[in-house]
Amino acid sequence: MKQTAFSTHEVFNQSPPFEDVDLFALDRPLREAVAAFGGAAAEQELSEFGRHWGSAAMAARGRTANENTPKLRAFDSRGNRRDEVEFHPAYHELMAHSAHAGLHNSTWTAAGRPAGGAAEVLRAARFYIAAQVETGHLCPITMTRASVAALAVEPGLLAKTMLVITTRSYDPSFAPWWTKRGMTLGMGMTEKQGGTDVRANMTRAERASDGYRITGHKWFMSAPMCDAFLVLAQASEGLTCFFMPRFAPDGSVNAIRFQRLKDKLGNRSNASSEVEFMGAYATRLGEEGRGIRTIIQMVQLTRQDCAIASAGLMRSGLAHALHHARHRNVFQKPLAEQPLMRAVLSDMALHVEASTALVMLLCQAFDRAGDDPREAATMRLLTPAIKYWTCKSAPPFLFEAMECLGGNGYVEEGILARHYRESPVNAIWEGSGNVMCLDVLRALAREAEVAIAVIEGLGEATLGLPGADEAVSGIVRAFHQPDSERVARLAVEKLALLAASAALNKIAPRSAELFALTRLANPHAGMYGAVDLAEIDARELLQRAMP
Ligand SMILES: Cc1cc2nc3c(=O)[nH]c(=O)nc-3n(C[C@H](O)[C@H](O)[C@H](O)COP(=O)(O)OP(=O)(O)OC[C@H]3O[C@@H](n4cnc5c(N)ncnc54)[C@H](O)[C@@H]3O)c2cc1C
Repeated sequence: MKQTAFSTHEVFNQSPPFEDVDLFALDRPLREAVAAFGGAAAEQELSEFGRHWGSAAMAARGRTANENTPKLRAFDSRGNRRDEVEFHPAYHELMAHSAHAGLHNSTWTAAGRPAGGAAEVLRAARFYIAAQVETGHLCPITMTRASVAALAVEPGLLAKTMLVITTRSYDPSFAPWWTKRGMTLGMGMTEKQGGTDVRANMTRAERASDGYRITGHKWFMSAPMCDAFLVLAQASEGLTCFFMPRFAPDGSVNAIRFQRLKDKLGNRSNASSEVEFMGAYATRLGEEGRGIRTIIQMVQLTRQDCAIASAGLMRSGLAHALHHARHRNVFQKPLAEQPLMRAVLSDMALHVEASTALVMLLCQAFDRAGDDPREAATMRLLTPAIKYWTCKSAPPFLFEAMECLGGNGYVEEGILARHYRESPVNAIWEGSGNVMCLDVLRALAREAEVAIAVIEGLGEATLGLPGADEAVSGIVRAFHQPDSERVARLAVEKLALLAASAALNKIAPRSAELFALTRLANPHAGMYGAVDLAEIDARELLQRAMP
């Protein structure tokens, strides 16, 4: 569109909006990763999804949902409790589009069993694309999808809820879940005195004739308009997982009292509540005393999604940076042709290409875990390692992407400021950084032999790559140390880098070589672009990543 002239100047040398694009077709590293990990047949449908989510209309919904944050309506004008949260219509539209695409259920059969095939990889590709547009609404979407893994311990309840979860409808009405066209589920674990240490939960559960009554609080409980929550509480046999619906079986509103909504750095389209349960109705999921074991099935999947969303956020940062650099001239030359900017962008492209391949490798392990014990072990060992590395690398990456756009990157009309504010949350929730490292150690302690076999398998997949051999022996040595906790971050980061090199080697061997050279053989410098990549390599990386 031709810009109109102002009285003092004309607008030129600004990049056009990066909208109305196909977020799948323009992303060669994503296309190749999806194909390499089992999703080759779905190109066309993913492209349709990419075009839809890359539209200006979806971008506008993402912006509007974040500018018009949810509001708690705890009471009505007469003082009666309402305990409802109001969202902007744009948020509901995003939810409807995600539900329509099956982001909340497509990895499950109608019976709540893993769908198999390449269901995880294909959903991950969509989730990765949706995260580039709006991440806040993906919180209830991911929790709904993940809850099925925990509901599986109660086949009767699973069968009833799947009837509503498997629809691709989004139904925001405030009504009992069994009457609705679609439902969402959340989770309540974190209390004031502890989020990591949920064994310290104080919320109590008492048996009643029709289930349990729950009394206590949760300090963070996101997406409060979910139709039910998986909640941890102390029963007589210890910490137990419960299914707590918004409505009791008699149709009355359950005693779930929202106190406040958090005022958050990012993730603003999503509401995160502080809540009290005043003898709220709930039913048990799994045995008493086995609450962590039950809910961890759900958390494993939300952790996977944290990594996918973080990779998607970084791809969006890179795509906007590349797009801008192609259109913006400085000193009579496009930024994309300036050697120093090319060094920065190509190093960033390498990081995103590796992150994308890495999350798809993990999703393939999820797809195959049911039939292949080795893939199941890969899934258990690598989920925390990949969540750790991918999520923690997103904020500094997005800062660099923002800087590539100069001042325009820092203002709220663009999407990068929002992505930047959003990015730390994926590392903090669902198990913070150190907790992920401790989880890797726990996986190793529990099944040392098979975990070491997984690491050695990554060694085989990276044979001949610079620094790969040393990485394998370094990781194994660190994990065998008696004080392995002290060096856990060092070893877990190396493990993620090794797995990323292996994933990339399957797709783009030269990229894998460059990645290993600049991350495994030599520690990566503190800043992107502080590497010595030959121009021919930089050109190839940029061509692969260019939207
Ligand atoms: C926006 C948002 C939404 C959220 N939504 C939900 C929700 O819906 N449901 C829910 O249940 N929770 C939710 N949470 C809570 C979140 O999961 C917790 O904040 C998180 O698990 C960390 O718990 P904590 O805040 O109590 O920190 P702590 O447990 O006190 O941890 C503080 C720090 O110590 C580190 N640490 C902990 N243990 C160790 C150790 N042994 N060694 C070394 N370091 C350690 C952690 O890695 C962390 O960095 C949400 C949080 C946010 C920010």
